[in-house]
Amino acid sequence: MPHVLISGGSRGIGRAAAELFAKNGWLVTCLYHTKTPIFDENITGIRCDVSNSILVTHAVQEAESKFGPIDCLISNAGISVKGLAQDFKENDYRKVMDTNFGGLFNLANAAIPGMVSRKKGVIIAVSSMWGQTGASCEALYSASKGAVDAYVRSLAKELGPSGIRVNAVSPGVINTDMLKDYSDKDLQDLAETTPLGRLGSPEEVAKAMLFLSSDGASFITGQVIGVNGGFLT
Ligand code: NAP
Repeated sequence: MPHVLISGGSRGIGRAAAELFAKNGWLVTCLYHTKTPIFDENITGIRCDVSNSILVTHAVQEAESKFGPIDCLISNAGISVKGLAQDFKENDYRKVMDTNFGGLFNLANAAIPGMVSRKKGVIIAVSSMWGQTGASCEALYSASKGAVDAYVRSLAKELGPSGIRVNAVSPGVINTDMLKDYSDKDLQDLAETTPLGRLGSPEEVAKAMLFLSSDGASFITGQVIGVNGGFLT
């Protein structure tokens, strides 16, 4: 069975991806951070803070020793912070960058050597459409996702000759805990601004990830694929 490692697999988009990949015959390792989730069959959890490179290296080693080489890495864990750019402190900057960009950096560093030696592998990062457009009051979050996009494009160039494909999915507004600070009115406005007229579901993002992991995407690399209901074209 192929093995996928998904960060932030305890809830939201990562959880939906874990369940979809398991349903499609993958062995799934989920990294979670705070509460220990209960997972379905074929999904195993490892507690790991993705912003800590040592913990990530250990988690990837543990996953590979239990379930074999990682065929697909999904760097999904992320946090958002909202506020005026001028009010953010260095601590906010470190936390957001270390989780959203550092998580990808640490996970890719831990997984790439094995993929290169096997001359195959797929890496999928979860970005955000705000990384492409910028968002008022989400400047740090947007910057962290812009870094993810640039890293994905660079890794694709560097790792293509080793048979490794690297892409990002760039969600629009997706109905998860990440939206809990938005008012009902904000959510309604965001749904109305989305050409498809609604918020997306975590499962819809997961389906794009499953496609990118598959042979159907065998000539797709270095792309930032929008899953945003037409919000950004
Ligand atoms: P969510 O429901 O808040 O879930 C976030 C996940 O990230 C949780 O599993 C959480 O683990 C994990 N996580 C956070 N910090 C971590 C850390 N330091 N180490 C390990 N895991 C950590 O959010 P979501 O909406 O599913 O977001 C998933 C990804 O999609 C994020 O990268 C987010 O930026 C991106 N995204 C979301 C939206 C949206 O509208 N929802 C839009 C664009 C992009 P715990 O449960 O253990 O805390």
